[in-house]
Amino acid sequence: MRLTVIGCAGSFPGPRSPASCYLVEHDGTRIVLDMGNGSLGALQAHTDIYGLDGVVLSHLHVDHFIDLASYYVALKYRPDGPARRVPVFGPVGTAQRLAAAYGQGGSDMSGQLDVRTVTDTFQIGSLRITTQVVCHPVEARAIRVSAGGRVLTYSGDTGPHPGLAEFAQGSDVALFEASFLTDAANPADLHLTAAEAAAASASAGADRVVLTHLVPWNSPEATLAEARGVRADAVLAAPGMVVDI
Ligand SMILES: [Zn+2]
Repeated sequence: MRLTVIGCAGSFPGPRSPASCYLVEHDGTRIVLDMGNGSLGALQAHTDIYGLDGVVLSHLHVDHFIDLASYYVALKYRPDGPARRVPVFGPVGTAQRLAAAYGQGGSDMSGQLDVRTVTDTFQIGSLRITTQVVCHPVEARAIRVSAGGRVLTYSGDTGPHPGLAEFAQGSDVALFEASFLTDAANPADLHLTAAEAAAASASAGADRVVLTHLVPWNSPEATLAEARGVRADAVLAAPGMVVDI
């Protein structure tokens, strides 16, 4: 399984990264986890955007899904004919949110985007997907992707949640959000600090942790230093980063 970080900026795009988007590939299956602001552009530098096998959304905050409205345009108006429908797995209300974002009085986008309500477990090609609700102001899920005996767990957005480490148990890679720094006045039940993300990955027994959802107003050096105080092998996600799992 191969993870490519398309965008790892948190909450809004940064000067050097789109918002959340991750390409996951295994044995010919290609999916994208989240499609935040700016990610559709960068995604084209890494893969053919047509013929994706699925898009899985962690939640419906703009920085995690809004480029699907542009993806619809790319699929529908491709010069050599409409591209094949792409399954989109998201929370209840995903189709309505997308139609509202696209405008024109609530367009029917179902010819291009086959929106389905995300469930606890489902299969996309060779990838087994498991999800679990985490701690965020809207319905948000962590996403566990398994194939060929390898496991990637993406936290999505979450505040501290005792179930995250259990859900990610035995992961080869924990792709965990680290939006906050410990010393700041952080709102409750919204995001993890770098230390919390590193600690959760260690509790999960994850072989590696890649910290993501890096908010542009935080110093990356401070985020990394905080995480490495807990787990010396922590690394930060970066646009274009490839992780073989
Ligand atoms: Zn969010």
